[in-house]
Amino acid sequence: MRHVEQVPARPPAAAGWPDWVAADLVAALAAAGIDAPWPHQVEAAEHAWAGSSVVIATGTASGKSLAYQLPMLSAVLAEARSKVLYLSPTKALAADQHRALAALGLPGLRAATLDGDTPFEERDWIRQHANVVLSNPDLLHRTLLPQHQRWAGFLRRLRFVVIDECHHYRGLFGSHVSLVLRRLRRICAAYGAAPVFVLASATSATPGESASRLVGLPVRTVDRDRSPRGSRTFALWEPALALAGSEHAVPIRRAAGSEAARLLADLVIAGARSLVFVRSRRGAELTALAAKNHLAEAGATELVDRVAAYRGGYLAQERRALERSLTSGELLGVATTNALELGVDITGLDAVVLAGYPGTLASLWQQAGRAGRRGQDALVVFIARDDPLDTYLVNNPAAIFARPVEASVTDPGNPHVLGPQLCCAAAELPLTAADVELFGGPAAEPVLAELVEQGLLRRRPTGWFWTDRNRPTANLRGAGQPVTVVESGSGTLLGTVDAGTAPATVHPAAVYLHQGSSFVVDELDLDHGAALVHPEDPPWTTCAQEITDIAILAIERSAMLDGVSVQLGTVDVSHQVVSYQRRRFSGELLDETPLDMPLQRLVTKAVWYTLDDVLVSETGLEAMELPGALHAAEHAAIGLLPLFASCDRWDIGGVSTALHADTGRPTVFVYDGHPGGAGFAARGHAVLADWLAATRAAIAGCECPAGCPSCIQSPKCGNGNNPLDKAGALLVLDAVLSRAKAA
Ligand SMILES: [Zn+2]
Ligand SMILES: [Zn+2]
Repeated sequence: MRHVEQVPARPPAAAGWPDWVAADLVAALAAAGIDAPWPHQVEAAEHAWAGSSVVIATGTASGKSLAYQLPMLSAVLAEARSKVLYLSPTKALAADQHRALAALGLPGLRAATLDGDTPFEERDWIRQHANVVLSNPDLLHRTLLPQHQRWAGFLRRLRFVVIDECHHYRGLFGSHVSLVLRRLRRICAAYGAAPVFVLASATSATPGESASRLVGLPVRTVDRDRSPRGSRTFALWEPALALAGSEHAVPIRRAAGSEAARLLADLVIAGARSLVFVRSRRGAELTALAAKNHLAEAGATELVDRVAAYRGGYLAQERRALERSLTSGELLGVATTNALELGVDITGLDAVVLAGYPGTLASLWQQAGRAGRRGQDALVVFIARDDPLDTYLVNNPAAIFARPVEASVTDPGNPHVLGPQLCCAAAELPLTAADVELFGGPAAEPVLAELVEQGLLRRRPTGWFWTDRNRPTANLRGAGQPVTVVESGSGTLLGTVDAGTAPATVHPAAVYLHQGSSFVVDELDLDHGAALVHPEDPPWTTCAQEITDIAILAIERSAMLDGVSVQLGTVDVSHQVVSYQRRRFSGELLDETPLDMPLQRLVTKAVWYTLDDVLVSETGLEAMELPGALHAAEHAAIGLLPLFASCDRWDIGGVSTALHADTGRPTVFVYDGHPGGAGFAARGHAVLADWLAATRAAIAGCECPAGCPSCIQSPKCGNGNNPLDKAGALLVLDAVLSRAKAA
């Protein structure tokens, strides 16, 4: 147990209904059990009603939906021809919101969900009659905006655009969505409408800044949560380090899932209604099964059937059934993936266990928020997985309980995102010089010139035109032709991987995990974009080995400190998979097999730092120790960046070298894994000193002797985690921080 935090109860605080809220709505809310709003809900609703775009960024169960429902429903109740567009990241959430609105039984409210599955007959009705349309950014991008003439009546009267769970729009996808929203604003303006944006976000470091970048407008922030809450005991737990096995075996921690299963059994025996969040579907099943076994061993056989794994297609009925059986106490313990995180109304549980960091602090609080009933203490336990970020969090509780440092980042200026989006915009309505401002101003100009050069857009005196008969396409979730992963026996399509990462993830003989099931790759056909796999669960993992080169193309920002230089810029990363290793789960190397894969290139953004000779000698490291020290510092830094930028460690990559051709110095690079960048490197550059301080703390906080997966080893290292020098990494980081902190 690394830390116990008592999160105190928050007393109720009520506000009055604003006088513009329709009487019918007040009555319907009262009938639903809401007698008075909380102050933060009123504050956000007032801003929206007064015509200011606003983001409400408060915790789980703080009633964010009422904050946007008040203005949007008041608008359609006052004038039934007013229109509202509600956007959510998942269909399930839109369906839940639809159900909640319908349950209010308001006269004059005509709400409808519109997604890829909505039949065409229904779409006609929605277009003509619905005044609240619940949809998602994909549909806006693919259907509503390209067919804006058909939606003219809707767009002309659009008063509010609600963007629920807006922290989900981050990275490359978020950058695309931010441009889709600019397209929406432009088309609305053409019809004479200027809708107000109301955004709901999880708590983050800079909700207003992120929301403003997302919609391209000034956005007010409401982030003081005044909802009442029961007290919670929040424990941080780090599984013990086991140094068992052969001499070469890596010290490993007990798996977070097994620890969670033991805890779940104990909680169920104590009669506590508990939810365990694990990372994979298979993990959910294993954890539930292990908990049942512990219960049987403990002689509590009558409790075995009251523990379940939650899996399946997550249909609304299944989720409702689960909510009911947990609420009634019929089920006492459930192990689930984060699929239960959104769109499920389970609160008031006695205990929540998080087996591993769910990727963002927003998710962590979302999951933790399932615990707690008013007037009763609840328990939350966070169990660290084998990962530097988890290690850091359990040893540095302030990162969880103090002000969040994580920000949702997007980069709408990425030319790989901007290019296709400008084509889509031009096809909707020719782009004028004034529009260029909306799409990033100076950043958009070279991209437009390039599109004209390629013959995709035509420049005329009045603006830029899309002249092709076919509509342009833009994939909101990534660039390039993805490689599809197909189970050869059944022909089932399992998923897709980026063409750029396919040689590393689905090379022949690679172990491929899909929703917790294990497959082995038989064949990778890059020409046709397909990988054929068969189900197999071998007792080893595979890891591709790569040769990576990085060249600096342009420097955007540069800071020279005494002995350290810190830069942000564009780089060309070339990498080639040359072999793969097979390792036992203990980490023991079985063998290495050569592979013949093409060279991959990625032009993207990177942040890097260099050390000069004086500083290197200050560290006391010998020349031969330097590569391992830099490599270890690079791995841990990649592991920690998701604390500051809402990305996954798989979204970023790194290169470290004792002598880089372009800098002439020992250099550590961390780059965005997507063409053109997605804002992660830029965020890393902005918070470099804090980021490296956290990196240092994660390494120092791990009690392993010479490095393990909880600190400096990376599961995706293209060099087989070799060389790595834990003590050296601390010396390098201390030297860099001594300068960076002073600056
Ligand atoms: Zn370690
Ligand atoms: Zn590495």
